[in-house]
Amino acid sequence: MSRTVQASIGHRRAAGARRTAALVATAVCAVVAVAVFGWGPSVVGSVVDAVGGSSGGSGGSAGSDGASWADGAVDASDGELPDGVSVFDDGYPGVTRLEPTLLAALRAAGSAASDEGIEVLVTSGWRSPEYQERLLQDAVSTYGSEEEAARWVATAETSAHVSGEAVDVGSWDAMDWLAEHGAEFGLCRTYANEPWHFEFQPDAPDMGCAELYADPTEDPRLQG
Ligand SMILES: [Zn+2]
Repeated sequence: MSRTVQASIGHRRAAGARRTAALVATAVCAVVAVAVFGWGPSVVGSVVDAVGGSSGGSGGSAGSDGASWADGAVDASDGELPDGVSVFDDGYPGVTRLEPTLLAALRAAGSAASDEGIEVLVTSGWRSPEYQERLLQDAVSTYGSEEEAARWVATAETSAHVSGEAVDVGSWDAMDWLAEHGAEFGLCRTYANEPWHFEFQPDAPDMGCAELYADPTEDPRLQG
């Protein structure tokens, strides 16, 4: 086989891997949403299916990823949360170990939302390094290498969830409410493909939120 042909095939494989990786990065978060939130296949099934279908036999499916971290290896002490945990719940490290400024903003916003009949839930907040590592290892099994997975799924060292500086919220109504009003409290979405993921931006009440990254792969903080 000529070098040109090999290079061409290599390029195609790389492009395929990137596409798969981007889908799986989305699916990992989506699987959390399914597990915690009870969102049905109609919401995220297409993402999971797309990951399984495009992996070309090179890895597992997002469905099995979800099952593997949910099989008891992590628990509430790692930040795992059951359904229906509100921002005011003091019983779970996933909530209480959020960075204090973020948690205060989240609870202030939660009070305001509550006045309008909307309950802001936390589907995933602080995560232990072990919990994040588990998510990453699930991705490794899909991508085939740690190096490739690390390009798309945050490591325990870089994840804003591990440092307590990111929160995933529910329900859809709460997401919509925060997308509209969160900036007043310093709460901003980070990624266009993750409407549930919010971080604290101190300038947001005055300046508005920073521009969204299309997905986590564009976030320079995750490159390290
Ligand atoms: Zn998140």
